[in-house]
Amino acid sequence: MLNLVLLGGEGIGPEVVEATAQVLKHLVPDVELQRPIHGEAAIAAHGTSIPDATKEACRRADAILYGATHKHCKDVLRFLRWGLTTFANLRPSKTRPGLPSPLKKDVPIDLLIVRENVEGEYPTREGELRDFVARWPEFTDVIGQKIPAEGAFALRITTEIGCRRVSAVAAQAALRRRESGRPGKVTIVTKQNIFARGDGMFRSIAEEILDAAKVPHDHYYIDDACRRLVAQPENFDVILTPNMFGDIMSDIAAELVGGLGMAPSGCVGERWSYFESVHGSAPDIAGKGIANPLGSIQSLSLLFRLTLDRPADATLLEEAVAATLANGYRTADLAESATRPVSTEEMGNAVLEQLERRAATAASGPA
Ligand code: ATP
Repeated sequence: MLNLVLLGGEGIGPEVVEATAQVLKHLVPDVELQRPIHGEAAIAAHGTSIPDATKEACRRADAILYGATHKHCKDVLRFLRWGLTTFANLRPSKTRPGLPSPLKKDVPIDLLIVRENVEGEYPTREGELRDFVARWPEFTDVIGQKIPAEGAFALRITTEIGCRRVSAVAAQAALRRRESGRPGKVTIVTKQNIFARGDGMFRSIAEEILDAAKVPHDHYYIDDACRRLVAQPENFDVILTPNMFGDIMSDIAAELVGGLGMAPSGCVGERWSYFESVHGSAPDIAGKGIANPLGSIQSLSLLFRLTLDRPADATLLEEAVAATLANGYRTADLAESATRPVSTEEMGNAVLEQLERRAATAASGPA
């Protein structure tokens, strides 16, 4: 039996995760769902936002559905990423007809960002320059300048194993996409011209792994890649990039196809995986019941494909979401002023109705 842990997190997180849980229960009726204590309630009861029993429930689960982080759940997110070593973050963006886009031209976008999820500038490794200079007085930058004595520094870390494992995920994703008619090409995005060692290593290892997997690839610098993502988004298939660049590029890509409320994401490692929408806790709309649950609901599709090997459920869900949107359902973030926006619950129910219709048609057999 499938065993999933739901962690709503904070802000709109619990609202969108509950809507997603209803969809999940419909598709997998015998799923065992656990909702272990975490966040603010856990701080009050146990003095930590993620008690050991909650961590253990996550480790034992087949996968985790997560909501969002604002203030109280930072350690929850840290556990999901670094405690469970979920080193690759997959963030697809696909055009949905009729959804708002800032683009003037109507082009079909269907791309996948594979973001390295545990290295680079994350988790925060900052300090005072005076401490740095005291410990390493002879350190100079690339033009021979000494480090200023006042201010702050941040470390950006790249390891060989980190580059290898995320590149392998991008290669597999490209091969999967090729099977479904996409080009199966990977665009590597770095800032190698500035970070010659770290990003140079990222690029050369990525190229080695993609060559070995016979996956075609090209490379752009992050600034050029962002420009191209806005100017010719239809030309991208899979994008492989270090942590912070992927964080930024995936928000841009989400905005091109309907906004943050629509954007799903899956974080995978060798043993564990968790799934969440790209957006944050959206404190401006939290508690109002108006958040768009489709980013979270579509993260279920990623769960079905990446972790549970249930591609038929993924396709069914994607069709149900497409039909819901085609029928005109819009939460406030997607609605034009003339449209009456639906609530989080209404949008979730509309997806459920589409799933029920499909189940009824399948049960009645071919005409
Ligand atoms: P945080 O501090 O948690 O990152 P934030 O507001 O800075 O929160 P997001 O939560 O990503 O960042 O939200 C950015 C904007 O997008 C907000 O105006 C928010 O209301 C909107 N937004 C994000 N997710 C959704 C959603 N699911 N439905 C509707 N609007 C959303």
